[in-house]
Amino acid sequence: MLTFNNRTALVTGAGRGIGKAIAETLAKHGVTVICVSKSAESCGSTAAAIIAAGGKAKALAVDVADGAAIAKAAEELLKEFPTIDILVNNAGITRDGLLFRMSETDWSDVIATNLTSCFHWTKLIGRPMTRARWGRIVNITSVSGVIGNAGQANYSAAKAGMIGLTKTLAREFAGRSVTVNAVAPGFIKTDMTTDFVNNSEASARILEVVPLKRFGESADIANLTTYLCSEEAGYITGQVFNVDGGMAM
Ligand code: NAP
Repeated sequence: MLTFNNRTALVTGAGRGIGKAIAETLAKHGVTVICVSKSAESCGSTAAAIIAAGGKAKALAVDVADGAAIAKAAEELLKEFPTIDILVNNAGITRDGLLFRMSETDWSDVIATNLTSCFHWTKLIGRPMTRARWGRIVNITSVSGVIGNAGQANYSAAKAGMIGLTKTLAREFAGRSVTVNAVAPGFIKTDMTTDFVNNSEASARILEVVPLKRFGESADIANLTTYLCSEEAGYITGQVFNVDGGMAM
């Protein structure tokens, strides 16, 4: 069992998939989890499941692509929770297409949702965290941000941006015992990947480049993320951990 000392966490994109698994795993370790997603229904169902299992959670619908909405939410949250000790920036979308066919909207929506959201949340939640001199920030990036992926210029740029942000903030916050790390999933079975996981031709093509020859589970990401948020991970910062079945060795 990892040590958490009654911490409070905010997990974005906690309504489904990887974020839901992270929220539920943190809650199992006694962490109070603020579950953020775009729709009230989806974060509400994660928070309800945590509470039904005996954990502590709060649901909050926020569009993370909207900086003003994040500022309003953070202001309210910090009245209720004087410190939010753990921040997991996980919310993300894809709008795939080859560059010459990619619209500016597809580019900017992905950058706003996947990258600029991390800037806003970290600035707002990170300030009281650094004042409290303890904190954990985990950014869920992607193997696409590490090695690139044809058809994902917007997504790869956002995810690579998260890696730069992680390494820089690890240096800025180190003096305050706030660690900042990134987890880079490969192909994980969630709503985001349903189309090709359920398509036998597409999945065979993908699995050719995955040495472990299977898709990952949300729990694979949640387990490492939870460890990185624990007391025990206090000497790890500025790192990017690939959880990808060996794709980006
Ligand atoms: P998912 O199943 O599609 O779930 C995405 C979550 O993000 C949902 O809860 C969704 O909210 C939330 N979200 C999306 N846009 C949002 C917005 N504007 N404001 C607030 N919340 C928003 O995705 P996933 O597969 O779990 O992916 C989670 C993270 O892992 C993403 O950052 C993704 O890029 C990354 N990742 C995934 C894979 C993979 O293979 N699945 C691989 C590499 C990296 P609603 O529930 O309200 O819609």
